[in-house]
Amino acid sequence: MEYHALGRSGLRVPRLALGTWLTLARIPRAEAAGLVAAALEAGINFFDTADVYDRGGAEEVLGELLAPHRREHLVVATKAFHPMSDDPNDRGLSRKHLFESVHASLRRLRTDYLDLFQFHRFDPETPLEETIRAVGDLIRQGKVLYWGTSMWSASQLRVACRLADELGVPRPISEQPRFNMLCREIEAEVLPACRELGIGLLFWSPLAQGLLTGKYRRGQAPPAGSRGADPRRVGQFLDRALASDEVWDRVERVLALADRAGVPPAVLAVAWCLRRAPEGTVLLGASRVEQLRELVPAATMDWPEGLEEALEEALAGPPLKL
Ligand code: NDP
Repeated sequence: MEYHALGRSGLRVPRLALGTWLTLARIPRAEAAGLVAAALEAGINFFDTADVYDRGGAEEVLGELLAPHRREHLVVATKAFHPMSDDPNDRGLSRKHLFESVHASLRRLRTDYLDLFQFHRFDPETPLEETIRAVGDLIRQGKVLYWGTSMWSASQLRVACRLADELGVPRPISEQPRFNMLCREIEAEVLPACRELGIGLLFWSPLAQGLLTGKYRRGQAPPAGSRGADPRRVGQFLDRALASDEVWDRVERVLALADRAGVPPAVLAVAWCLRRAPEGTVLLGASRVEQLRELVPAATMDWPEGLEEALEEALAGPPLKL
């Protein structure tokens, strides 16, 4: 596995990381253990979770499964922002919530420090200065080593860097946006801003939640056992995407190109993210060991001549509203 610096920091991370969103706390524990073991075996020592994933459940399972491993060999990232209960202070990016959230995450993850603490969304209700001072204090206390953002706009990232400089707090080292062949909204502003500011990128939903794997078919019900068939899935992305002919036209063109190139479509989709933004790391949402193993070669895929251009053509069209 190849490692690179995350943003303008000294932290080195693999080009692929294991995500834990709708997977780790929902699959049988033996399968979850297999996923973590297969990740580590492939050199994937970087794990992304969040307090809100199954209300602490994903952090708990991850903490249990990482406990036997040497802490210094792991890079553990979590997030805070989304409500964890009905309590009005149990959410957002206030100083109170960030401190309480870090303590709860450390407990669930069975660790003394977080390598990366990410703000899951921008919080318009808390002064950004308060948030940045709080993370600066958490860093000074050694509970957090680096901080990052998720789904922040280019202008929010610019202001965060300026304020951090003014307050003498380290800048964010990463932004975590959605990025895949169907969702390219970051290419216009966020990607250039991160490049300019030296902020690293962690891409979520690289397979468009499975749509780019070829397992779904136009006009057919999602296959049993897939995320699309799971009534507990979160958000309406898959419903909207599976019902859109505009999406299907692009997906079918991509699947045909993958077939012609002899590359599994899921591998092509992950490799495409890294081709478009080589400084990024892709968060894998594998729910089974075989899925993870299939995706690992995406980090080193050779690009046959003309494939990237052909994909650009296949994906051409107005931005999809997903
Ligand atoms: P993906 O787009 O990769 O979708 C994951 C789904 O794809 C899985 O549920 C699995 O489906 C399917 N899949 C994965 N690998 C394969 C394969 N090789 N063959 C066939 N199907 C496959 O990623 P996610 O949407 O899950 O996001 C990845 C990670 O990003 C999350 O775990 C989380 O850490 C992070 N994330 C962050 C967000 C944020 O707001 N910051 C939001 C969302 C995710 P199935 O279950 O059908 O088998």
